[in-house]
Amino acid sequence: MKNTADNVVIIGASHAAAEVISTLRKAGWEGKITLIGDEENLPYQRPPLSKAYYSGDINTDKLAIKNPSFYEMTKVGLVLGARADSVDRANKEVVLENGTRVSYTKLVLATGTRARLLPVEGADAPCIKYLRTVADVDDTKSTLAPGGKLLIVGAGYIGLEVAASAIKQGIEVIVLEAQERVLARVTSEPVSAFYQDIHRQAGVDLRLGVGLKRFVTKEDENFAELADGELVKFDCAIIGIGVIPNVELAEHAGLACDNGIIVDEFTQTEDPDIYAVGDCSNHPSQIYQKRIRLESVPNAVAQAKTAALSICGDNRVYDQLPWFWSDQYDVKLQTAGLMQEHDEVVVEGDVAARKFTVSYFRGGKMIALDAINSPALFMKAKKRICMDLQVDN
Ligand code: FAD
Repeated sequence: MKNTADNVVIIGASHAAAEVISTLRKAGWEGKITLIGDEENLPYQRPPLSKAYYSGDINTDKLAIKNPSFYEMTKVGLVLGARADSVDRANKEVVLENGTRVSYTKLVLATGTRARLLPVEGADAPCIKYLRTVADVDDTKSTLAPGGKLLIVGAGYIGLEVAASAIKQGIEVIVLEAQERVLARVTSEPVSAFYQDIHRQAGVDLRLGVGLKRFVTKEDENFAELADGELVKFDCAIIGIGVIPNVELAEHAGLACDNGIIVDEFTQTEDPDIYAVGDCSNHPSQIYQKRIRLESVPNAVAQAKTAALSICGDNRVYDQLPWFWSDQYDVKLQTAGLMQEHDEVVVEGDVAARKFTVSYFRGGKMIALDAINSPALFMKAKKRICMDLQVDN
């Protein structure tokens, strides 16, 4: 830590990156820090992209995770708008796309995820968009005026949040979902049914169990052709069918990857000088006794702290209870834990009043909870789940 020539290089100007920098300096890292990011922006928050930023309630300034002065104060070398092409582990260098080599003492991969592409005919048309970056949102919004027709493919968190934000702006919204219910991957039937109701009440044309055959353009008009032959007209489409972790740098450098870059409880890869944090990493969860890859800000931030402390010689096991949130209309969903392996579901509260909880149990132990407009119960459940699963969070 005393050698000021040492360089921690972070790839990905991400949520996690901002936290790595902050924790490194707080923990006394005196060496260099270099941040390499392929977007032009300093690290910014992605959650508002489908919420307040999409609906126009906040501008880009409010997205910044840290003010520009933070990077000056922490003396970070910024290499933005530059893509890392490979990692030369033998020489401990990152090679940029333009051929520049950046030496590292410790390397942190915080490359996040990218949108999963929809493999249907016509999906490469300019009116078909994905939503991952601030540039994506600006681009999408420039093609839609109030009264325009937005087609959303996929009723996951991002698709539904965009639906709520767009309706608020007077845009007509159609959502196509292949499954028989929304949010099927992440929650239970009562919560899905609730969200289906509130979107339909708000005027979203929500279609479930629908197959999408292809996109076609006829006489300057765009259509989605459904499996039954129906043509659905739209101006712009957003595809929200999940993401893929950006593991290629690690993979080509010979590091183990399996649904994310494999790391240990200290976020370290099999190379002791390389860490991976945030959405791109796959870590061992002591709580759930299995490997998991999470897509959430709390995970990215907590893993970033773990990595930075470990670089400074302070190894602390990362084992935070996963938690998530989603804002749609006047409804805040907060989720604690992972519900997938439950054997019992308990619904409490007033669903019609949009204030209720759904608790998930396995063998009598609480493993997860969905709290709708119930922040106090969410906090309580976090503690209960940790107690039931015997974790110290
Ligand atoms: P990211 O923030 O994804 O950043 C990774 C960065 O690395 C990107 O800028 C990428 O371009 C860059 N990069 C990748 N490869 C390279 C390379 N080779 N060279 C240089 N740079 C590279 N999470 C929540 O918890 N709650 C929410 O409500 C929520 N809503 C969301 C809404 C939207 C629209 C989106 C897109 C995400 C949302 N998320 C939400 C997820 C959350 O944003 C992510 O979990 C979080 O951003 C992960 O941070 P990260 O540090 O892993 O990487």
